[in-house]
Amino acid sequence: MTLPTTLTYPSNLLSNLSSVQIVDLRPVLPTNPKYTWESLNGFRNLNDLTTIVFHHDALSKASTRGYDNRTLATRIAQSHINTKKNRSEGDAGFPYHAWIRNGVIHITNNLEALTYGVASNNGYTVHICVSGDYANHDTLTDQDRNALYAAYFLYKQWLPKFRQLMGHKELSPTACPGYDMAKVRKDIASIELEMSLNNTPNTALARIFGFHTRYQDLYNKAVNAKDPNQAAAQAKLLDIIQVAIDKGYYVPQ
Ligand SMILES: [Zn+2]
Repeated sequence: MTLPTTLTYPSNLLSNLSSVQIVDLRPVLPTNPKYTWESLNGFRNLNDLTTIVFHHDALSKASTRGYDNRTLATRIAQSHINTKKNRSEGDAGFPYHAWIRNGVIHITNNLEALTYGVASNNGYTVHICVSGDYANHDTLTDQDRNALYAAYFLYKQWLPKFRQLMGHKELSPTACPGYDMAKVRKDIASIELEMSLNNTPNTALARIFGFHTRYQDLYNKAVNAKDPNQAAAQAKLLDIIQVAIDKGYYVPQ
């Protein structure tokens, strides 16, 4: 199964992530005249893809400032086609499945393509890369971080056997991706919590969760003599208590 041209985010994705632009560069990126990733390595089964790997491309932003996204992606693909490091006739093409730059997600390979993202670990991995050198020169911008997280959720939904997110250097010795994977995991966990509360079947849970927060806020004001809203908070809580009494949910002592 090849990724469709128009990819859509999971329906419960937070709006600041689902607004990230997706550009499909697959039709325009150069491939090796001798072979493509698919003709070279066959087609991977989606059921075998358990791991999303985060990368950087190790090109400092200062060194790439003169290129627009598409031009830089083309240059990266061409340099991999030209390199003889992995094969005597060069790589098949762009080395990652998705590539992020200037807050935009670029689709750069089919998911089934076995590319060279992490040595000896390419049968089960999906490679998502952010442009920049985060081990030495650059800091992940908010918009690139956003796009990185959006890409994670965009791809994860295609992987029925998804198991884990890894940074490149957690699989083999390298400086890649350079940005803090502990922060990435923490951010993604809190996004996932928020998404679970946004799920339609969990609307009830979300309302209960929201009310818990509201109740604590009212309680803190109601018992604090220094709070200017103490009286109003007490009145509101007494209203809520009265509803509970009327319904038979609460019997005052
Ligand atoms: Zn890497």
